[in-house]
Amino acid sequence: MTEINQKYSECEAPALSHSEEDSRVNTTLKSFNPYTSRAIDLGNGQFIGGGHFQAIAGPCSIEGDHIFEIASHLKSCGVSILRGGAFKPRTNPNSFQGLGKEGLEMLACAGHQNDMLVISEIMTESDIDLYDDIDILQVGARNCQNYSLLKALGKVDKPILLKRGMATTIEELISCASYITQAGNDRVILCERGIRTFETMTRNTFDVSSIAALHHASDFPVVADPSHATGVSDFVAPCSLAAVACGADGFLVEVHENPEVALSDKEQALTPSEFENLMHDVMAMRNFLTY
Ligand code: PEP
Ligand code: MN
Repeated sequence: MTEINQKYSECEAPALSHSEEDSRVNTTLKSFNPYTSRAIDLGNGQFIGGGHFQAIAGPCSIEGDHIFEIASHLKSCGVSILRGGAFKPRTNPNSFQGLGKEGLEMLACAGHQNDMLVISEIMTESDIDLYDDIDILQVGARNCQNYSLLKALGKVDKPILLKRGMATTIEELISCASYITQAGNDRVILCERGIRTFETMTRNTFDVSSIAALHHASDFPVVADPSHATGVSDFVAPCSLAAVACGADGFLVEVHENPEVALSDKEQALTPSEFENLMHDVMAMRNFLTY
């Protein structure tokens, strides 16, 4: 044995007896306190933050009747908030732009039929009236610093999910949220959806540490969006679990009945059965962390 081998062999953990092993498995996390956010009333008896966890799931875009089938499947998995985009901020103007008003109507109908809340992205304040039947308004990454939109949403009596911009610092994101709260609406949820870095293997870089930092610096509930953060369906489950371990108050995931033919973000969509497995693991992780 070389000197180095000997040094490290001395550092090996001593073998555990059976009873010690059992107590190690049952140990809870003493320093972990995810409940630093404030609870927000979402309506329909649902809350987020302050110990209330929410799964938000659905297709990137509402494409038609498929939303009804997806809604009932997600409901059976325990999801209370159905997502779907109707006005889509697409990079390429020739890409599918969403079904607009008709899409919002389908989303509201599919969600409410299944006793779910619905969330959809709003791109401009002039559309606010179209969102009467939408329970939660999403501000997308591209509009995170659109201050006139944020001020207008401060006057709306609905929860707002504010996504982090691609190049928005944590402090800037909190300032953006303050535009909404200072205009009169304190029901703001923040969303980490990845930021632009030099990395190209993922669509964005999932900044999991921002979840802890946002909880440290503010009392807004924080959800993670591992779908847009990674852009790769295989990475969505591990990053969802990382977010939960980091104290996220919820997660937002894109699900499509047949990702290969999805009209937007097909590379990152989970199938309904993949989502069902993920939901099981996320809830197992949550239960492990709750004490
Ligand atoms: C979306 O949720 O479909 C979306 C466009 O997200 P982001 O604004 O994070 O890109
Ligand atoms: Mn999308």
